[in-house]
Amino acid sequence: MTDTIEVRALHKRYGRHIALHELDLNVRPGTVFGLIGPNGAGKTTTLRTLVDVIRPSSGTVRVLGEEPRRGGPSLRRRIGYVPGELHLEGRASGHRLLAFYAEVSGAAGSSASVLRSARDLADRLGVDLNRPVRTLSKGNKQKVGLIQAFMHRPELLILDEPTSGLDPLVQREFLTMVREAREAGQTVLLSSHVLSEIQQTADEVAVLSAGRIVADGDVASLRLGSMRRVRVRLGGADAASTRAAFERVPGIEGLDAAVHAEGVQLSATIEGSIDPFVKTLAQYEVHELTVEEPDLEESVLRLYGDAEAPTKKPTTRRTRRGDGREGRS
Ligand code: ATP
Repeated sequence: MTDTIEVRALHKRYGRHIALHELDLNVRPGTVFGLIGPNGAGKTTTLRTLVDVIRPSSGTVRVLGEEPRRGGPSLRRRIGYVPGELHLEGRASGHRLLAFYAEVSGAAGSSASVLRSARDLADRLGVDLNRPVRTLSKGNKQKVGLIQAFMHRPELLILDEPTSGLDPLVQREFLTMVREAREAGQTVLLSSHVLSEIQQTADEVAVLSAGRIVADGDVASLRLGSMRRVRVRLGGADAASTRAAFERVPGIEGLDAAVHAEGVQLSATIEGSIDPFVKTLAQYEVHELTVEEPDLEESVLRLYGDAEAPTKKPTTRRTRRGDGREGRS
């Protein structure tokens, strides 16, 4: 079966700035593909090329078997797209706007069912479709953007930072919608700079950094999720001996231990299993513990090095490791 999205040597130049360097990307039908990367990595540029909002400087792009620039309205109808920057400023209500989209997207014969689906989605996401869209908050506008992409159950969903501005409960509902889309046989390509939402939904991931794919494969193989930032406050301990104990924890880096009013405050990042850290921690009186995901930029740079450096183009399903070796995932 041909891939739903096939991108070969996609190159995009804005004047002297190269936004995408000879990008290769394949998305298989019926899968959820996550494109992650820090700000400015080229995610939006890639997605806009797929829906023909911008055109490549060179390279080839095929979406649902067609070239976006030649596919026209019939191709666009098969795609649901949420742009990274959504501008909804009209006086029309959410209902009227969505009815208009249903009509122009050619859903005429089944527009009643599309609008029913829009109402269901609005209930799930919690947005009032009776209000003029320009009066909606940023998060509620984003919900209308998601509804217009999902309501006609397109074969392919292309979602650029779809959860931006949504509160955590709504984000969870959105992730359920993505899983349901996959179960219904739809293909989803979503971009994000939030690792956890990609981890929860995507079958495959590509990590984009400075216009290059620095790693791709399944989520687990990328090791991005294996890095955590930890902060603890321990009672009745002295800084030097505490530091010495935690320095022995495998995968610990950037260890900082400072004396605190009631004990020792310690922070570090841990790559790999958290278990040895927890076992060491168990020997102390723990007053406070925070474990969090480091930001994506930090993870990408630590694990995959400086993407600006000229590198060999990665082959499919290989991950490039920070130590310069390449590992098959
Ligand atoms: P973010 O997460 O911040 O939205 P992104 O990964 O989507 O980032 P892009 O918006 O694709 O990144 O931008 C990639 C690079 O191309 C950036 O360096 C950006 O400044 C540049 N760029 C994007 N659009 C234009 C444009 N119209 N003209 C000039 N440079 C641009």
